[in-house]
Amino acid sequence: MHKVICIDGPSGSGKSTTARAVAEREGVLFVDSGALYRIMTWRALEAGVDCRDAAAVAAFCKGVKVDFVVKGNRVAYEVDGEEPGDRIRTPEINANVSPVSAVPEVRAIVTGWLREMPKLGDIVVEGRDIGSVVYPDSPYRFYLDCDPDERARRRQKEDAGKGFVQTEAQVKASLLARDKIDSSRKTAPLKVPEGAIRIDTTHLSVAEVVDAIAKAAGV
Ligand code: C5P
Repeated sequence: MHKVICIDGPSGSGKSTTARAVAEREGVLFVDSGALYRIMTWRALEAGVDCRDAAAVAAFCKGVKVDFVVKGNRVAYEVDGEEPGDRIRTPEINANVSPVSAVPEVRAIVTGWLREMPKLGDIVVEGRDIGSVVYPDSPYRFYLDCDPDERARRRQKEDAGKGFVQTEAQVKASLLARDKIDSSRKTAPLKVPEGAIRIDTTHLSVAEVVDAIAKAAGV
């Protein structure tokens, strides 16, 4: 049985940076679960599906095909033979991904994909429901938290690097709006998984968070 390290937390808490660093340091594969919900949202928007219409989203997402390809120390996602890259990181996708990911049928598809990933090797998966729903039996489950102002600062900088110019206040509003939908939805809400180790990253460097995870996980 392959090792599965689960890292959950709200938007901008440092999950992705931390999980990538854990993957690099421990030689496990990085799995970005949010990107799968973003791909669903991207395809739905491209097809003109109303992302607030749960039945339409559920029907459409059944037909979305994604190929999983190991590239270096990550599992890459290809749609029609290519990776979507920053096309799934736009403010428009940020505004629509939470309603799409709240649709139970969409969650069932993505959860199914995520549960197949250990066939590819040991993995570190970051998301919102990884330690609570997707892999509740993993002994390596972490929840990263962080002050919302610091999260907005981090995400604004990251988005600006991708060419999406927004104020910190706009980024904070978008993060908090997503957190609200993510933590209040009926299916697999964002929460601290029972028994998970909670780490507040507000005043910690990436290296300190990675150390804490590596130590606690004994990896
Ligand atoms: O992590 P990222 O910001 O890319 O996630 C985008 C969105 O995907 C989240 O706001 C949430 O709505 C959804 N998501 C989820 N469950 C996960 C990962 C992401 O619902 N495991």
